[in-house]
Amino acid sequence: MERKIRGMDLPDAAAETHRLLQRALDALPLSLNIKTADGRYGFINAHQARNAGMPAEAIIGQEVGIAAGETWRRIIRERDIKVLETGEPMGPYRDDFSTLFGLDGHWITFKAPFSLREGDAPDHVVTISFDVTPFVEAENRLMSAAYTDALTGLPNRRWFDREIEQMASRAEHPGPMDWLLVIDIDHFKSINDTYGHQVGDCVLRETGMRLRQSTRSCDSAVRFGGEEFVVLVSDATSEEVGVIAERIRLAFDGKPMIKVESSPSITVSIGAADIEGRDAQAALRRADDALYLAKKIGRNRVVLADRSLQP
Ligand code: GH3
Ligand code: MG
Ligand code: MG
Repeated sequence: MERKIRGMDLPDAAAETHRLLQRALDALPLSLNIKTADGRYGFINAHQARNAGMPAEAIIGQEVGIAAGETWRRIIRERDIKVLETGEPMGPYRDDFSTLFGLDGHWITFKAPFSLREGDAPDHVVTISFDVTPFVEAENRLMSAAYTDALTGLPNRRWFDREIEQMASRAEHPGPMDWLLVIDIDHFKSINDTYGHQVGDCVLRETGMRLRQSTRSCDSAVRFGGEEFVVLVSDATSEEVGVIAERIRLAFDGKPMIKVESSPSITVSIGAADIEGRDAQAALRRADDALYLAKKIGRNRVVLADRSLQP
């Protein structure tokens, strides 16, 4: 008896299934292709053909790289070979496709090996890729919010911790020429008590601005917490650090903080320490000790760990 599928003879049914799959895969808003073991396209859907800027018929039968360029040809071929050799699916992995077909953005790709006949070793690779740029952008926004102090817009302590961790793993950094300045507003509690918490917040925002203005572009001002700030100074001699710290101190030094009559004014105390032997935590402790000393001997001054910069 002749086999039938959905009332059709097998050849018709196969043609119908083929048409159905082709239409469905072309309708998908993602790139899909199938390659043979020797690295030639056996199938490419409409979305990928559009991205490649060539009709699918011009790509089918061609080698990987016909539209992708040499760098991507090598990467794609290596991945396909790995998938074929291991017999395991691969992905998801994320690529920056700005160098592929001039496509902007980030793409997620999955690959899987398969064979045309069951039981055979894998002889084809099916690959799907789709654009996840909106998700990456949202993630980047979240990441940047996580590393930013909401009040002042300065990097926060989480950023600082990550930064010194990364510095420690970079062999040459921080070297003996990198410094930490710990800056604490003097008697800040009395600003809140006298003017209210909102004005206190304005003063903190202005403090952030002045720290940015009084440091070099290669230095990083961080809001550490409360009314305490840290500046990471890179590549400076002790004289240069003294100048930077003094410039910071003078940016406050009892000057009005807000453009209103009877504006609050503040002074800051600063402790500075060089980052010896890439140990930023130890430098932080020494800078804190120096800050404590600056407070103790009268505030509104800079103390360099191990020696006073300013009486
Ligand atoms: P010292 O000179 O010894 O540093 O005295 P201080 O008053 O500055 O130090 P203290 O640690 O006693 O007080 C810090 C104050 O900072 C207390 C806290 O209410 C205030 N503060 C911390 N974070 C904020 C903030 O985000 N906004 C405002 N308005 N105040 C804050
Ligand atoms: Mg204080
Ligand atoms: Mg404090």
